[in-house]
Amino acid sequence: MTGMPLISDTQNTWCPGCGNFSIQHALKAVLSTLESEGISRDTMVLVTGIGCHAKMADYFNINSFYCIHGRTIPVATGIKIANPDLTVICCAGDGDAYAEGLDHLIFGAKRNIDITVIVHNNRVYGLTTGQYTPTSPLGFRGRSTPAGTLEYPLNPLEMMLATGATFVGRGYSRKIESLKSLIREAILHRGFSFIDVLQICATFFDVHDVYDQYVYELRDHESASFDRAMEKAREWDYNNKGPIALGAFYRAKLPTFDQKVTAKIISLEGRTAAIQRILDERR
Ligand code: SF4
Repeated sequence: MTGMPLISDTQNTWCPGCGNFSIQHALKAVLSTLESEGISRDTMVLVTGIGCHAKMADYFNINSFYCIHGRTIPVATGIKIANPDLTVICCAGDGDAYAEGLDHLIFGAKRNIDITVIVHNNRVYGLTTGQYTPTSPLGFRGRSTPAGTLEYPLNPLEMMLATGATFVGRGYSRKIESLKSLIREAILHRGFSFIDVLQICATFFDVHDVYDQYVYELRDHESASFDRAMEKAREWDYNNKGPIALGAFYRAKLPTFDQKVTAKIISLEGRTAAIQRILDERR
């Protein structure tokens, strides 16, 4: 696919004003820069789930895998272990990552597999026309909860810190420049990188006026400190109004799962021999 435009000519069907456009733009800018810096497009893989966000797989001219709901992380994990030279990026929705795929998200972080997870968190099921998700606020009135939800939302940053992610950040679809730097850093980070992107759903949950009022960029934040990161993650509970920090909350360097697998299994016989053996066994 090298040499083709990064954005495909597939007809785009996102609603006007959808925050997915901004995430697509930010990711395109980052991938294009990485390509110009020597990372071949042929070594990039985009894995998406099910939901409005998932159309990213159609809209980019890069290797991609369109998964079933909630399964981006096991697929991405398999791809990374099979070929550790690949740069593997998951785009998932909040229903995808925090509901159906929650167990996979937790274990991806726990293992510290070297993949990047970008959650398009619009806090609603947009594709199925407006049901509540795990990050919808208490009292959210949607198609499945006309009288309002009875549950508090979960805080994905707090959860990812607690379960072992080694890069944890938050972006906002209306702050594209900071989103670009966050995505770039997450992709270059060695280990499980997680970004929760507050994404505007223009049709079913447009809270941009609230976000615009409360977001701020992290400055002078000790991102190497787990305790400081957790403090910042708890500053906003995804329910009440802000303050809402944006940026990298936590950065840690730890051995990755793919490195451990390679060291433990593949190095015994060599990678090429291992691939050949697996292929021979399947014949
Ligand atoms: Fe975007 Fe919401 Fe429309 Fe889906 S329903 S395309 S998330 S604005």
